[in-house]
Amino acid sequence: MDELLQKISKLEALLEAAMTRIAELEAKGKQDSGNSSKPPSSDLGRKRGGQPGHAGQTRELAPPEEVDEVVDQDPQTCENCGESLENEPRVDAFLRQVTETPWYKAFVKEFRLWLKACPKCGKTTRGQMLRACRTALSVPNSMRGSACSADATG
Ligand SMILES: [Zn+2]
Repeated sequence: MDELLQKISKLEALLEAAMTRIAELEAKGKQDSGNSSKPPSSDLGRKRGGQPGHAGQTRELAPPEEVDEVVDQDPQTCENCGESLENEPRVDAFLRQVTETPWYKAFVKEFRLWLKACPKCGKTTRGQMLRACRTALSVPNSMRGSACSADATG
């Protein structure tokens, strides 16, 4: 029975990923009358989540090499039953980017809102944007580069 639950949660995650993709493609189809300066394949497999915030541009995802900082946001507990998700594998992530422009340079911070499936009830829960993270600038760290391309597609 546990296997079945795991299977279901995997399917749920896949479905959500597919729905996200569909929504993204639909949105893209509607916007295509605008400019299209996006490099064609640079963001393959990189998904955008949610709607634009006012803090920065969310039109297009900056390519990995332009991201100054990556912030991984894992859900702590299942939003359905409260089970801890601490040791569960990451299923999928929305990528959201906040672009700020200090006087010296543009600074891109990428938030990865990870999705995890609950081992107990199968419900999937996503990591949340922390309010403090949206605006706080911090020094780019050693995660730069290596963390950007490695596990985006899980
Ligand atoms: Zn649960």
